[in-house]
Amino acid sequence: MNSSPTTGAIDAGMREIQALLDSSGPWHRFAPHLEAAFVDFLRLRVLEMLRSGWWVVLLFYFFVGLSTFTQVFMLSGPSWRAANLQVWWAIFLAEGLPIAGLLLLPRLRLLHENFALALGLIATFAIAVITVGTSAFPDPFFNVHSSYVVVFILSLTYGIGAFRLWSAAFMGAAAALLALIAIVSLGLWLEWGLFQQYILVSNAVGMMLCYMVEQRDRHMFLQGQLLLLEKERLDLVSAELDRLSREDSLTGLSNRRHFNETILHEWERARREGQPLSLIFADVDHFKPFNDTYGHLEGDAVLARVGATLRGCLRRPGDLAARYGGEEFVLLLPGTPEAGALEVARHVHRAIGGLGIPHRKSTVADHVTASLGVATLVPGPDSRVASLVAAADEAAYAAKGAGRNRVMVAGASGPVPVEPD
Ligand code: GH3
Ligand code: MG
Ligand code: MG
Repeated sequence: MNSSPTTGAIDAGMREIQALLDSSGPWHRFAPHLEAAFVDFLRLRVLEMLRSGWWVVLLFYFFVGLSTFTQVFMLSGPSWRAANLQVWWAIFLAEGLPIAGLLLLPRLRLLHENFALALGLIATFAIAVITVGTSAFPDPFFNVHSSYVVVFILSLTYGIGAFRLWSAAFMGAAAALLALIAIVSLGLWLEWGLFQQYILVSNAVGMMLCYMVEQRDRHMFLQGQLLLLEKERLDLVSAELDRLSREDSLTGLSNRRHFNETILHEWERARREGQPLSLIFADVDHFKPFNDTYGHLEGDAVLARVGATLRGCLRRPGDLAARYGGEEFVLLLPGTPEAGALEVARHVHRAIGGLGIPHRKSTVADHVTASLGVATLVPGPDSRVASLVAAADEAAYAAKGAGRNRVMVAGASGPVPVEPD
């Protein structure tokens, strides 16, 4: 049932992360489960960035477009201007496609599964287009000049995309290859030395950026994971403390404190709903002589078995069994009228006797028995919860007085015996 991790598992996870944070090597090598969580962390972050920062992407596109347009317009000689602007338009419009892809990415759920691949393809396409584009300028001066602008744009793309180093390397190589194929098959002019230089420079700068961003992201991710685990650990410890504060350690039943809280709560509820609230007191007979005869440890074992028996006698989810103190137990039965409570009390009485635990010092049987008192009240304007507890206690005391090993019920004029069935 319980699928939450144990404190041991959480501690192990925290040690693993702390060791990674402490390691000073140039590379954080994650175990597969952490690497998968990291990739997911990046994916969600980029998705969120694209979702809320779509206008930044558009602004970037238009800003770069405007500044390159101005350069083409101003730096081209009059004879080349029209032809250069034509190429500029072709590049600008073609780059609109990957930009549209980026804006659509967070909205197409289908792509979220293969997010890294989709983002990689978009960037590869964008890089290939701009690389081919620079070779397409018919103006030899511009052909050279634009390659420097491309180094800048490519480095920026890598930096903003925050690709992991290996994706970036793969993407750079794929884009260069695609661009080369396009340039050669379109018969565009290519200055080989220049091509090699700017492809190499932009990829190297881009990858350095990716490496730095990736290392910082990994560090941030680890710290976030550590905080999460710390919180999980605290939640677990506090849930355990909460459980311990409500539980009796010997029997595993509720302790008196929890019983006191619950009966108040149920009393108020019964008052609101006009429902009866029943309480059974059970006290083990001659338990002091049992301890004296068989020893305290054996006595503890009996209490644990009686506790388990009481728990086994509960029928409804709202019923509560608690250890009231020493060898005294209580059963709280919300919404149960007297007849139902008597049935439960008889059942408990039989079940405890039925355990057949030998007790040679008992004067009432040769085995362990209990005396039970039952009280039922429908809370009225004048009644108080203490009177329900006192009535059940009194009935149990009367059961003792009447010879033990029996059930008695609180009546209007004092406790009355319950016929055994
Ligand atoms: P009666 O039939 O009148 O209830 O007699 P009794 O001996 O059961 O009642 P009494 O109140 O005189 O003694 C209760 C005994 O329960 C005293 C103590 O030795 C024992 N007891 C209380 N708490 C524990 C416990 O946690 N473990 C063990 N082993 N014994 C306990
Ligand atoms: Mg007692
Ligand atoms: Mg007793």
